[in-house]
Amino acid sequence: MDPFDIIILGGGPAGYTAALYGARAGRSVLLLEKLAPGGQMGTTDVIDNYPGFPQGVKGFQLAMDMKACAERFGAKTKLEAVTGLELAGSGKTVHTKKGDYAAKTVILATGAQPRELGLAHERELRGRGVSYCATCDGMFYRGKDVAVIGGGNTAVADALYLSRLCGRVYLIHRRDKLRAPDSQRALLEQAGNVEFLWNSRAEELLYEERLTGLKTVRLDGGEGRTLDCAGVFIAVGQVPETSLFAGQVELDEAGYVLAGEDCRTNLPGVFAAGDLRRKPLRQIVTAAADGAVAAQMAEEYLSAL
Ligand code: NAP
Repeated sequence: MDPFDIIILGGGPAGYTAALYGARAGRSVLLLEKLAPGGQMGTTDVIDNYPGFPQGVKGFQLAMDMKACAERFGAKTKLEAVTGLELAGSGKTVHTKKGDYAAKTVILATGAQPRELGLAHERELRGRGVSYCATCDGMFYRGKDVAVIGGGNTAVADALYLSRLCGRVYLIHRRDKLRAPDSQRALLEQAGNVEFLWNSRAEELLYEERLTGLKTVRLDGGEGRTLDCAGVFIAVGQVPETSLFAGQVELDEAGYVLAGEDCRTNLPGVFAAGDLRRKPLRQIVTAAADGAVAAQMAEEYLSAL
């Protein structure tokens, strides 16, 4: 079988924008996604800061629309987990659980995933009270008390989402100020059922069959709390999904791909787009912009072959 002009790894906004630009330029494009299209965007409730949607847009809907845009020009999606890559030579090979695919260029757009907090029993309680995705799991906690850990945009969005479903929402943050913009704090205060635990960190998950509560400690010498809650939503940042190509593609000390604004990696014909790239702002709009640049750079590379 002829190699694809472009194989894209990851079906988030970076991947599907690259697929749109690549396919619209007349190239054969295969996009491989391990779970469902959309990446982190697909599990976000409402997105208010992607331009063109005055009333906001559901993350899942935006994901489906981005996929449809790319497929309209002929890009193909396969839901297959990539298990290995050979990227160094002029012909690239992508191995999945179902087979091998050949490509002339590869665009890496595998994004990032939620960081674990590292508490004892955190992994075994995942799905039994510990969650990393409020919009995925919030419904299971309807009417119950829950805690959110973190102070960034994700923690705020999770706390707001859960405040509409749950009883009390404890927001536990290690500092006395959110990392998210101040305007977000006002929204949380308006919700009426969000209680802030500032200068605090989660110390112990309490459980029987499922999570039953959480012990916190104060970092400023005050007294910690024991909270009764059915769910703990951990939102303490992300780690890039780059382990598949570590050792081939140059990464920084935190595991992000070292690629400049032109999205070129150290390997000819291999480009990096979206949250997995070292960059100052990780948003849907910057991921989409990376996807367009990466596809254009792939196009220039292909034209020179
Ligand atoms: P983030 O911005 O990196 O924030 C992580 C938060 O977790 C910070 O408040 C941090 O505390 C805290 N934290 C980190 N490690 C911790 C630990 N070990 N224990 C306790 N707390 C810890 O991550 P994010 O909120 O997931 O957002 C990731 C990126 O996506 C950001 O660029 C964000 O702007 C973007 N995003 C944007 C939106 C939006 O604009 N609507 C929504 C979601 C995400 P410190 O503040 O003390 O460092």
